[in-house]
Amino acid sequence: MRAAVLHAPGDIRVEEIADPKITAPTDAVIRLTAACVCGSDLWPYRGVETLDGPLPMGHEYVGVVEEVGGDVTNVKPGQYVVGSFVASCGSCEICRSGYPSSCVHRVFMAQVGTQSERALIPHADGTLVPLPGTPDAALIPDLLAASDVLGTGWFGAVAAEAGPGRTVAVVGDGAVGLLAVLAARQLGAERIIAMSRHQPRQRLAREFGATDIVTERGDEGVAKLKELTGGLGAHSVVEAVGTQESMQQAVRSARPGGHVGFVGVNHDVALSGEELFFSQVHLHGGPAPVRRFLPELIDLIWQRKINPGKVFDLVVPLDEAAEAYRAMDERRAVKAMLTL
Ligand SMILES: [Zn+2]
Ligand SMILES: [Zn+2]
Repeated sequence: MRAAVLHAPGDIRVEEIADPKITAPTDAVIRLTAACVCGSDLWPYRGVETLDGPLPMGHEYVGVVEEVGGDVTNVKPGQYVVGSFVASCGSCEICRSGYPSSCVHRVFMAQVGTQSERALIPHADGTLVPLPGTPDAALIPDLLAASDVLGTGWFGAVAAEAGPGRTVAVVGDGAVGLLAVLAARQLGAERIIAMSRHQPRQRLAREFGATDIVTERGDEGVAKLKELTGGLGAHSVVEAVGTQESMQQAVRSARPGGHVGFVGVNHDVALSGEELFFSQVHLHGGPAPVRRFLPELIDLIWQRKINPGKVFDLVVPLDEAAEAYRAMDERRAVKAMLTL
């Protein structure tokens, strides 16, 4: 099958690799309907994460089940499915407590690769959610977004306790930040402040439900946000970048007693213990337990109540994956979809 493979920083090639094969009775193989490139794929692409040999890329997927192992009972060949970027068993204590992304048997799909014609899905029963039927082509981008960026933005908003009567600030205007805005709106937040310097992204944030835009960054952004919130800061802050600057901005933007949901993949962030002590904020984050939210998100998409697929502003065939990566790396695209 054809797949996007990273050979060295900046060097993505679409080439023939071996078809996935079922080895465990809990595995399934799906044929992808569409694939996409994620902001987190840019870390190895930029050489921030080291590579030990060619790496098949991708971790988001929507597709049709082709084959299942002998123990799989929840999905069957021919069914359309969506799953999370972390495969999870669904039955261990951690899965049952709502944290499938930390399942004791978890497999990060980035170690499997899904920017390809087919993909192996470990723990298929716990991981895959069957769709109510065959999706219209128009719903494919929305369903693909549910696999990671929507589910991650949603978790960010839930972890930040976005809800009625609350002011929510979102640090980061990538796909996850934009969809955290959408999530905060769905969860009933009263005011949603998107922090973004880029006009097309500001427009999308407004479309998704942002009521205010702050263009300043760092401590200037914090000052502006405080000005908008009577000097107090936001009740809820979603951090969707993962850098030192954005984490600091998020913590400083929350009011005492407020909540920060941090979902940007963290890279070498160090926070001052003293600052945390006196901030009196709740911090909750990590790899989003997307599987927990999938049934609800799929339902909202199926009923056409949300359209998270709008974050895809570049659509190219899988064979042009290298251009998709370049466009996202250069911030010419928010998120690129790969057609198959
Ligand atoms: Zn992702
Ligand atoms: Zn589990």
